[in-house]
Amino acid sequence: MTHDPLAAVRPEIRALRAYRFDPVPAGLRAKLDFNESPADVPTEAKDAALAALRARRFAFYPEFGSLRLRAALAASVGIPPEQVVPGNGSGEAILAAVSVFAGCGGTLLLAPPVFSLYVQMAGIAGADVATVPLVGADFRLDEEAFLSRAAGGERTVPLLCSPNNPTGGTVSRDFVRRLCSVAPVVLLDQAYVDFSEEEDDLLPLLAELRNLVLFRTLSKAYAIAGLRVGYAAARPDVAEEIAKAILPFSVDIGAEEIALAALACRGEVRERCRGIARERERVAAALRALGARVAPSRANFLFFVPPDGDGARVFRDLRTRGVLVRDQTDAVPGALRVTVGTPEENDLFLSILREVL
Ligand code: PMP
Repeated sequence: MTHDPLAAVRPEIRALRAYRFDPVPAGLRAKLDFNESPADVPTEAKDAALAALRARRFAFYPEFGSLRLRAALAASVGIPPEQVVPGNGSGEAILAAVSVFAGCGGTLLLAPPVFSLYVQMAGIAGADVATVPLVGADFRLDEEAFLSRAAGGERTVPLLCSPNNPTGGTVSRDFVRRLCSVAPVVLLDQAYVDFSEEEDDLLPLLAELRNLVLFRTLSKAYAIAGLRVGYAAARPDVAEEIAKAILPFSVDIGAEEIALAALACRGEVRERCRGIARERERVAAALRALGARVAPSRANFLFFVPPDGDGARVFRDLRTRGVLVRDQTDAVPGALRVTVGTPEENDLFLSILREVL
């Protein structure tokens, strides 16, 4: 008789719902489901990076500590390299920080609806999850409730997303200051901050708050989701602890070369982000004119409930017609999330939505 290996799986892993997606349908006309960049890395930058990659020895491991990449990431946001912990996507850096601070019996404090992988990360790390849901039609953080829950225990670790995926709202610098004064450590995911306003960038707070950890990614604004580079930013002594929870060489040389090339396109990236923010406001206004309830967003996506309140049906009908958005009806009844694409993609989305409605 053999043992049942499933009986040996940790209960918190068994309890997780696997992150799963249906295959991308044939005849897709607009992929607006993953908050990806509508434009790719410019061809010249790709060519230069691929030439640099070709010249490297694939037989060798990447540079230990990704020092060149670390320096470029740090320079792109004006902080010292010692404050940057690169990861295989920001997801890896967030998981590392969740393990370091909340793992093995701590509590991760979330404000749902929020990026669903956080719950998975808590499960992997062996952390419990506590929640203080967003409130109101614009999905605001209930600041006082969140603060009092965050103050609740030595091993309670708040993890906020700003701008928030999927709703698009942000937290203020003053609130982060208050949170850092009550919680031992504060984790803040800023994957979408490049599409936001300058005041939403919380990096300057690292200079005054020792217990703040931020996360950034090159997957969104920098358009390299396929290559997997993100990072944690924290004070050097904190960064060192987070780095311990990431295996060496997790960022491969392909990702490194493309990331360096993408970072060199910063001017274009900024310009593109401004264009996406303008498109976001245009699409939001059009959705509202159709009678949808749209949450105010500072990211490259919009969270909305269609006028008939039947997000699941609208999702299916859009999909059948070649437009892929994200079904968020599990998180909020009737809700969908649409990525802001090119003006043409956005027009296509809006016209097919009108048809579907
Ligand atoms: N944080 C948020 C809020 C996200 O939406 C995502 C990706 N969808 C990530 C982190 C992870 O991104 P990556 O690992 O590609 O950097």
